[in-house]
Formats: sequence, structure tokens, C-alpha cells
Amino acid sequence: MSELSVDLNLVRKYDVPGPRYTSYPPATRFSESYDTDRLHGLIKANKESDRDLSLYCHIPFCESLCWFCGCTTVITSRHREGTDYLDYLDREMAAFCEEGIGDRRVVQMHLGGGTPTFLQPDEIRRLGSILHRHFGDAPGCEAGVEVDPRGLTREHVTALWEAGFNRASMGVQDNNPKVQEAVHRIQPMEITRASVEWLRETGFHSVNIDLIYGLPHQTEASFEKTLDEIIRLSPNRLAVFSYAHVPWIKPAQKILEQKNLPTPETKLNLLKLIIEKLTAEGYVYIGMDHFARPDDELAVAQSEKTLQRNFQGYSTHGGADIHAFGMSSVSQIPDAYWQNIKELDGYRRAVDDGVMPVAKACLVSDAEKQTRTVITRLMCDLSLDYDDLSARLGIDFREAFAGVIEGLRDMADDGLVRLDASGLAVTDAGRLFIRNIAMRFDPAIEFSDTPRYSKTI
Ligand code: SF4
Repeated sequence: MSELSVDLNLVRKYDVPGPRYTSYPPATRFSESYDTDRLHGLIKANKESDRDLSLYCHIPFCESLCWFCGCTTVITSRHREGTDYLDYLDREMAAFCEEGIGDRRVVQMHLGGGTPTFLQPDEIRRLGSILHRHFGDAPGCEAGVEVDPRGLTREHVTALWEAGFNRASMGVQDNNPKVQEAVHRIQPMEITRASVEWLRETGFHSVNIDLIYGLPHQTEASFEKTLDEIIRLSPNRLAVFSYAHVPWIKPAQKILEQKNLPTPETKLNLLKLIIEKLTAEGYVYIGMDHFARPDDELAVAQSEKTLQRNFQGYSTHGGADIHAFGMSSVSQIPDAYWQNIKELDGYRRAVDDGVMPVAKACLVSDAEKQTRTVITRLMCDLSLDYDDLSARLGIDFREAFAGVIEGLRDMADDGLVRLDASGLAVTDAGRLFIRNIAMRFDPAIEFSDTPRYSKTI
């Protein structure tokens, strides 16, 4: 894919709230009222399957709150919390594996947060041995961890490598000191650079950097400087997120309202800058917020049409079931999703009581599975092959989706998709609007409900 240019009039037209489709049904449709017996039956049957496994652990602790943050965190400087939490993770996994998990192959692991590197190097090694004890060896596993350069040491990196982690993702957000001060996250470029060097020297295969646009004091000139500095580090992947201002859910974000947030027009110009600059620098625009070097696994999987989507975003192991541990983590098997309790005390109480610490779940119907297949293929392949989907779903896709396909004419006229008798192809310009295109295939989308979602662009 060559350098992209962004038409801001189209961005204005299609910038409506919509799901990110990291799951289908989206997490907003998970419910506290679900059939507990049926969920437990599905989980039990799944444990007996031989499907590949992807493991996720949520480490919620952060030493201080970044005021833009939308994650589920526990802010504390008491490092003892990490030690206690590992006991709970160990017990949660032990209870989950009690009846056996069979000989299932672990193909992927992810340590997310919060801040996984809040854990001290010895605790990271301990977490590695806990995972190993419950789930066995994981040779060749793609194991990613979110690291925070602030407080990261070479010893952390060595411990992560020894625990089996081989890919890392780090938050930077913006290098400009004025922006960093306004969002309460001081992270000099030197520590970001040192972290990348340690990870590379240790052998980590891939380094991802997260940036955010739409933060206070950002201008095109200042953000271009951040992009230039980050590109010089040559990350394998970049995720550049739009700041989602939701102070009714995250009250700390209210502080940012007094701090010169960019106008919607500046934000659009930042988006244009990001896509045009990164694609000109040779990154492939995977879709949504993600960019990857052409030789990165994500870009290769997309070109081979084997890319998948899950709660960590895009993934090369979508055929695996996700078993997730720790507060607020989300598990996924073909027939169900379930999310753990989001508060630390409630999570601990459930583990103490010997029950699964589940807060919400979603049992997936056959019709929803069909929609999930269509939306996943669309978002990952950036195309739909009608014959392939007819075979996969056991339906006449052209006939079943005739109304939706006909309704895409406006998007074809706007140059976002190309339609012919064999299928649909998202154009390079259409990649930015992939959520909007996916929403057309979602029969349950209710536009009156959409304020619950972030904007699609
Ligand atoms: S370190 Fe990450 S998870 Fe923690 S408050 Fe900052 S942005 Fe949120």
C-alpha cells in the first residue's frame, strides 16, 4: 500500500459513534443477567476441546493516574499489592484448571494493564512460573507485554524475557513536555529510547508504540515532531489512538477540559497528518488505529487473509480461545464471552469464595456468530468474498445480504468500497472508515444507542 491521502470532508461525514468490534456482540451488549448454568456448561465443554489457547492476565496497578486514561486501573505506590495479586491470579488459574485443561497448545499470551511492569523483576519471573505450572510449556508462543518506560529497568526486561515474553508494547502518547505535563504523564524521550534499546538487545521480536492524538496543547507541528522522533526508533508497529473524552465514565478526564484541548478541526488535521506521514514512511495502515511495518506479522497476516480481531485489537491467532485472568479481564470462546469483576475487592472476594469472578457475560447465538464472521473478515481482510462466505456460513451470501450490499452504494460512490459480482473490497481510502462499513452489516446496531460508543474516526 502506498502513501495515503485523507479527505477531511469524508471524515466529517462518517464521524459517528460506533463499536470497535473487538468482539461480536460488542462488550456494551454483555450483561449481568445471563444463564449461569449454560455459561458454565459451555466453559466445561470448551476445556475438553483441543482448540489452541491464548492466555491473558490483567495487572491493574499504576503508580500514578494519567488523566486521559480510559483503562481499568488501581492507583497505588504500595508494591506489596502486586505480590498479593499474584497469589489471587495463581488461585484463580488453579480453580479454572482444576478439572483439567487437557493438552491444549498455548499459542499466545498477553500481559496487559494497568502496568504489568508495576510488578518487580522477581514477581514477573513468578508470574511466568505460575502460567507455566497451570498451562504447561508454550514453545513458539507469541507472548506480548505492555511495558511502561517510566520505572522500567533492564532487570524488568530480562525477567520478562526469562518468563517467556518476546513482544512488547509501550505507551508514549506524546513526547512534547507541555502535553506530558498537562496530562500528568512525564516521560522524557531518553527513557523511551533506552527501553526500546533494552528490549531489542534482549531479543524481543517486536516493539509497538502507542500514541494518542487529541490531547491538550497538541498542534500539527508539535505532533509531527513526536512522530519524527518515534519513527527514528523504528517500532515494528504503531497504534495511534484518538483520545476518547468520556468524563462521565472517567471523572479525572474533567481536568483536561481546563487545559486547552484541541478543536475538532485540529484533531482532524492531526489524523490526516498521522495517516499520511506513517504511510509515507512505509508503514502499512492495517485499519482502525494500527500501523505496521510491511514485514511485521500483522501486515503479513493481513495480506494472507489470516488476521483476526480480539480484545487486544488485531491478532495473528484468532482461532485460539482466550482464557483471561485478573480483575476486569475478558475471556472468549466461540459460544460465549465473559468479563471478570472490575473492582479489586469484589474480584478478591469471589476468588476467596472459590467461585469464578465473573461480572458479565454474553452467550452468542447462531445469528450473532454469522454476523461476527462477516464483520471479522471485513475488518481483517478489508474485503468480503461472497463465495467464500457462502461456503463458510452455509448460506447464499448474496441473497441473504442483498439489502446490505445494495445499501453500500453511497459508500461506493464516496470511494470507500468497490463492489462487483464476486465481492466487496475496501479501498485504501476506505480503511479509515472500516468501523462505519462494518456497522452496515450489524443488524443489531441501534443508532439511538450509539452514544455509548466512541466516534468511529
Ligand atoms: S500507565 Fe497506562 S493504564 Fe496506567 S494510568 Fe497511565 S495510561 Fe492508564
